[in-house]
Amino acid sequence: MSHIFPRHTKSDLPTAARGEGVYLYDTDRKQYFDGSGGAAVSCLGHGDADVTAAIKSQLETLAFAHTSFFTSASAEALADKLIANAPEGLDRVYLVSGGSEAMEAALKLARQYCIEIGQPERHRIIARRQSYHGNTLGALATGGNMWRREPFAPMMIETTHIAPCYAYRGQATGETAFDYGQRVANELEQEILRLGPETVMAFVAEPVVGATAGAVPPVDGYFKRIREICDQYGVLLILDEVMCGMGRTGTFFACEQDGVAPDITAIAKGLGAGYQPIGAMLCSAEIYRAIEDGSGFFQHGHTYIGHPVAAAAALAVITKLTDGGLAKRAQVMGAKLQSALEDAFGQHPHIGDIRGRGLFRGLEIVEDRETKRPFAADRSIHKVLKRETFAAGLICYPMGGTIDGRNGDHILLAPPFILTDAHIDEVVSKLKQSFDKVF
Ligand code: PLP
Repeated sequence: MSHIFPRHTKSDLPTAARGEGVYLYDTDRKQYFDGSGGAAVSCLGHGDADVTAAIKSQLETLAFAHTSFFTSASAEALADKLIANAPEGLDRVYLVSGGSEAMEAALKLARQYCIEIGQPERHRIIARRQSYHGNTLGALATGGNMWRREPFAPMMIETTHIAPCYAYRGQATGETAFDYGQRVANELEQEILRLGPETVMAFVAEPVVGATAGAVPPVDGYFKRIREICDQYGVLLILDEVMCGMGRTGTFFACEQDGVAPDITAIAKGLGAGYQPIGAMLCSAEIYRAIEDGSGFFQHGHTYIGHPVAAAAALAVITKLTDGGLAKRAQVMGAKLQSALEDAFGQHPHIGDIRGRGLFRGLEIVEDRETKRPFAADRSIHKVLKRETFAAGLICYPMGGTIDGRNGDHILLAPPFILTDAHIDEVVSKLKQSFDKVF
């Protein structure tokens, strides 16, 4: 009998034994194509020799030194490299152990900044429906997926949610994509005015929405308008790049493609590429200066912040993504993946939309292509698809609740950036085989 507490208590999972390149193997030697990098984590694939060597070398010199007493060479080098590749204005890096921790740090820093600049009434967070920002209580309250929040609602901090930028479902007939983007962005201004501008601390969004909606990119101009509104009302813009960052969408930070820079951003997943658990919160020089010139102390912290081994691993990972050109490769291979998916499923009666950026792609599953009607939620089509694709030896990330947290289904693909043309054929053929069985 296992003593592991699994996600689903009735699940009976195979035991992962080995990883190599784009493949994982279980203890029965069954091979799985890691088509979603777990949950958009394994951007380098499995068994990367350079990252393994960096981890070994760091372990042999220094495994751990608590950040109350020391900084470390690997944490410093990682922070330098991140800032050298970050959107303009971001200047400081706070290293944590994952995405939720990065978001908690972002929210608490935003709050402390407001206090330090003499605006303590600012505490409200505005985020978007159909978003996910993590499972710790602050991050969970920020996320707009009602199904995840509901049981914990009495414990939530104050957050309100506006419409996401989700053109496939939201763009009205006769409306241009640009006008649609402006319309939904303007909901932020309406919400700030409704709450009272002097009480709003931050707006939080994923540049490309990941798990909850299936790689939904914003339309042109949306984030520029969001930035304008935040600036007008003194509201901080926090971008959550935990899933879509670190080259996944074809640029090192996803927001580069929208021509905006946040005040604070959260990253994780691809930062450690699965080799170590690591995340980070990056903030602007202005925010850092407010703390430096004010209390001089960020009232936050965890035992493992700035972990030297995790930092050494992340430094090796992002060196490959930036200097090694792998983020650019994600752009090139992502375009190829999109056209292969369109060729194979563009006319499929149950695929309503194929979308995304770089190697971050989503397929929205519908019962009726014409009306975009989803399958009935109780059919749990995403679960059936997950079972079939897994049986076919393909790991993808199917989820339900795409439209409103309860209805709709999608599949998320986020393969390692090392994938080849032949690998794309393999993913598409395994998906096709699974769709043929399910539909
Ligand atoms: N933010 C986003 C956009 C995510 O997709 C996730 C995880 O899926 C998180 C935050 C939370 O990250 P973690 O699971 O590492 O705590």
